[in-house]
Amino acid sequence: MPVQPVAASAPPSSGHRRAASVHADVCVQGSGVVGACLALSLARLGLQVDWVRPGSGASPAPSDVRAYALNAASVELLRTIKVWDALPADARTPVLDMRIEGDASGSALEFSAWDQGVAALAWIVDAALLEQRLREAVGYAAHVRTVERATPAALQAHCEGKAADAVRDGLGVRWNRHAYGHTALAARLVGDRPHEGVARQWFRSPDVLALLPFDRPRPGHSWALVWSGPAPAAQTLSEAGVAEFEQRLAEATGTAVGTLRLDGERVLWPLMLARADRWCGPGWVLLGDAAHVVHPLAGQGLNLGLADVAELTRTLAEREAWRSPGDARLLRRYERARALPTLAMGRLTDGLLNLFAAPAHPFGPIRNRGLDLINRSGAAKRWLTARALDR
Ligand SMILES: Cc1cc2nc3c(=O)[nH]c(=O)nc-3n(C[C@H](O)[C@H](O)[C@H](O)COP(=O)(O)OP(=O)(O)OC[C@H]3O[C@@H](n4cnc5c(N)ncnc54)[C@H](O)[C@@H]3O)c2cc1C
Repeated sequence: MPVQPVAASAPPSSGHRRAASVHADVCVQGSGVVGACLALSLARLGLQVDWVRPGSGASPAPSDVRAYALNAASVELLRTIKVWDALPADARTPVLDMRIEGDASGSALEFSAWDQGVAALAWIVDAALLEQRLREAVGYAAHVRTVERATPAALQAHCEGKAADAVRDGLGVRWNRHAYGHTALAARLVGDRPHEGVARQWFRSPDVLALLPFDRPRPGHSWALVWSGPAPAAQTLSEAGVAEFEQRLAEATGTAVGTLRLDGERVLWPLMLARADRWCGPGWVLLGDAAHVVHPLAGQGLNLGLADVAELTRTLAEREAWRSPGDARLLRRYERARALPTLAMGRLTDGLLNLFAAPAHPFGPIRNRGLDLINRSGAAKRWLTARALDR
């Protein structure tokens, strides 16, 4: 749907007093997880928020088959906005161990929550249920009004996701985008052996296969699959008959997890690395995938978006009383704080992909040896875990 940027209703430094015709301090545009979390988080500051959700009166969109790996900081944010505890226990499965395998037999990197002194390395959360609970929470929130289209406000917060080209163009933002030519296939699986809270990933050059332990529909035996690789191969996999698909899965995962059965549909997601060259200006700001997109191999895209939400909330909470929420200098503080972590994650995922998606020779021995070396270094593992948990 084409999206027109809406002008800020007040000049940036006019102070935080709403004009009589203006209802909201902030208009949040974006009906995904980042937009909903931002609306709820800003409402807790006492700001008046309009949340744009086109078609909110229509029947719900088809379910998202994905499950997100969320880090400790994201879980904390969801707790603060009272959504975490509203999720059923079987829709948020803790990851207790993680095993990442290279393309040579035996080379692997293992993480354990116990070794790292944390309750869980991540939590696997049902994407569709999370969105549903967020919508319900918005319905109860005192300072949030759900609207069909953008309304005038001191700040327009854009969370329309990576496809928001019209918005970025309208704001004069350049979108530096690199299409990988790879596609992720997402699906749900059920196994005959218990997952025991172990997340698994295989770097198989050129494809990357991740199995996230999950408890829906079968507690202790379900998995969320993300299998990414060159687009034509992913397309073929998505169109293969169920028996053939399960056979390909068995070949890829070997004896590690037992027999896996497909549970429901397979959905494809084209992958890219992208970043907006500016994230804010007078009366507007970008968050989540509207500002930055990374490859899902580290399961960090939404975590970055939720960290944007936490940072913008902090920035607005700490602003001087005379500053409007749309003050460009204020918003630059948010942009500066988020620049490095998002850039670093983009480089890390891109680097890993380039290293492991390259043909086995000449990198094969180096990368597999790298996995083994990190695996033996307690300090390197602690550092990597802290980055992934955003502690
Ligand atoms: C296969 C796959 C697996 C992933 N796994 C993980 C994971 O395990 N962990 C993780 O952290 N990240 C993961 N990610 C990344 C994650 O999905 C994204 O980073 C996240 O969904 C971005 O959220 P968002 O709200 O910014 O954007 P989106 O999810 O794209 O939501 C934006 C929404 O805004 C809507 N919209 C568009 N225009 C308007 C408008 N004018 N008004 C209102 N709404 C509008 C869109 O329809 C859309 O619903 C994965 C990604 C993929 C592809």
